Amino acid sequence: MSINHHLDDATLVSYSAGALSQGMALVVASHLSICPQCRERAGISDAVGGALLESLEAESVADDMLASLLAQFDNLPASPATPVVTIMADPELPAPLAEYIHCPLDQLEWKRIVPGVAYYDMPWEGRGVSRLLKIAPGKAMLAHTHNGNELTMVLRGSFSDEVGRFCRGDVADLDDQIEHQPLVDSEEDCICLIATDAPLRFTTLFGKLVQPITGF
Ligand SMILES: [Zn+2]
Repeated sequence: MSINHHLDDATLVSYSAGALSQGMALVVASHLSICPQCRERAGISDAVGGALLESLEAESVADDMLASLLAQFDNLPASPATPVVTIMADPELPAPLAEYIHCPLDQLEWKRIVPGVAYYDMPWEGRGVSRLLKIAPGKAMLAHTHNGNELTMVLRGSFSDEVGRFCRGDVADLDDQIEHQPLVDSEEDCICLIATDAPLRFTTLFGKLVQPITGF
């Protein structure tokens, strides 16, 4: 698997600080489980968080320590040279997700929103949305912007949007500046793990009409 779209620094720092919603933390953990490149960056992020904590406690940290830690983000290799090998109960499920999904993706009780689009909610309440989305080939997700952040990890198939093309393992890490309409461009269904920390803001009338139904 070659991964082309990764978590951004702000998301990794928020994850290290325990500041993400449960759903967003699950997407981060799932991506980290299969992406050595982001795991390495997450280690630096933990170090930055630890250094900040220590500096708050001791007030003796060198002025350039944080800058030098942050600079390491820029000095990482572009991509891992070795293939990613992960042991998973269901080969499609990253280990953190498999803790909550105990059957193959095709056997989940998918709920249909509209023809070609179905979802499966993760079993918890809380801030934002956390669910699996299954979208048929050639179908587009409704155009939307975000009130907050949206994290999407592709588990099967692929989609393209204004940002690029996203395949298995890739994450789309979007903030509230981006309006996008993902279109599934694989021959099979595209299944994604998706989480937001606030409701999406649909930009089409149809999207606004179905929002109360879909719960986004
Ligand atoms: Zn990554």
